[in-house]
Amino acid sequence: MPTKKPPQRALTESNGTMTALKDGAQPSAAARVRRSGSEKLTITILPGDGIGPEVCNEAVRVLRSLGTFHNTEFHFQEKLIGGAAIRATGNPLPEDTLRACLESDAVLLGAVGAPEFDHLPGPQKPEAGLLAIRTALGGFANLRPAVSFRSTADCSPLRRSIVEGADIMFVRELLGGLYFAQPRGFSEDDASAFNTMRYSTEEIERVAIVAFDLARTRRKKVTSVDKANVLETSQLWRRTVNEVGRAYPDVKLDHVYVDACAMHLVTAPTRFDVVLTENLFGDILSDEAAAITGSIGMLSSATVGGDVNLYEPVHGSAPDIAGKGIANPLGAITSAAMLLRHSAGMVHEAADLEAAIQQVLENGYRTVDLASASGGKEHVVGTAEMGALVEQAFSAMLERRFAYHAV
Ligand code: NAD
Repeated sequence: MPTKKPPQRALTESNGTMTALKDGAQPSAAARVRRSGSEKLTITILPGDGIGPEVCNEAVRVLRSLGTFHNTEFHFQEKLIGGAAIRATGNPLPEDTLRACLESDAVLLGAVGAPEFDHLPGPQKPEAGLLAIRTALGGFANLRPAVSFRSTADCSPLRRSIVEGADIMFVRELLGGLYFAQPRGFSEDDASAFNTMRYSTEEIERVAIVAFDLARTRRKKVTSVDKANVLETSQLWRRTVNEVGRAYPDVKLDHVYVDACAMHLVTAPTRFDVVLTENLFGDILSDEAAAITGSIGMLSSATVGGDVNLYEPVHGSAPDIAGKGIANPLGAITSAAMLLRHSAGMVHEAADLEAAIQQVLENGYRTVDLASASGGKEHVVGTAEMGALVEQAFSAMLERRFAYHAV
């Protein structure tokens, strides 16, 4: 069996110090190497299938450019997952890939899935590799930003006046609730079926701590989503979140029923900062909020709190556009920004990278998914050109930052 690293703390604060996740949590690998002075960060890249390798290339290109400014040495190792791994080894998550991931400081994944494997039973499909790596890394909190940029607000199916300025961070509990609790199944006569919604105080506490820590680095507001008027699990959820919130007097906490939240997301998304949800509600609401951004190609995610954090764009392998060089790499690049913030402690560099993306969009550059949605009046660029533009803008920002620090 591959050796497991000690669990990472999920988050870094804006001053670069680590915040406590729970008793016994260890400093992240990045923080440990930093303190020991060796300044080396090993990132395992899992390009996967379809557009996965295309968008990963651009995320790595941008991260590499940071290495020329920062005294951290980035070590990238590429491993197989999904359909690419099945073709080479017969296994969607080869042992070698699993070992490399567990021994690295962070994992960046592209996408998995290929039509040629669609006929296979579930456990043999490429997607089985994705589920297996998520489980092995053990992250219990899924972070999904939904941001509306001024320059692309018209790409949303919602009116600009509604979405402009929206900047939401979903914190979704990922390992509990209806998707995992037992018992589940079908009755003997197959005429009924059942699932169990169950949460423990500890499961709620640990994800709530992630949400409150994150809110402290943002606009200091947590909206907790539940259905406490009907469900006992939600009543425990609300009570526990209130208790955790007492340790964060500087963070404003409110509670919203899940049905009301679904409505507010499309009528007043700017009212939210951090949205804390259990597993099922978070699955649905974070997809709904994707409409705010205008293209699935823009969406990023991080899964934190386990042995090694996992960063991945939300989109799939998009077989319809794979190999054409037109995929939007910004979801993968913003996932890389999350990696800098949450696994490398480079909060300023992460902010620079996000600002570089905004600048490129402000300058009118669009991949085809965004251009067609906004009338096609902008400069349409391919995947690699978009990556190069972001890299240039990012390098210019880093140059200014490091020149300033050198004075
Ligand atoms: P998809 O996200 O791959 O594609 C949906 C639509 O969005 C397609 O029209 C596609 O062209 C477009 N799209 C997706 N990403 C884009 C990008 N970066 N730039 C521009 N356009 C983009 O979802 P799907 O078609 O339902 O699934 C395709 C395959 O991906 C399936 O095998 C599925 O199982 C797999 N999948 C994997 C993941 C993952 O790896 N996390 C997630 C979802 C689906």
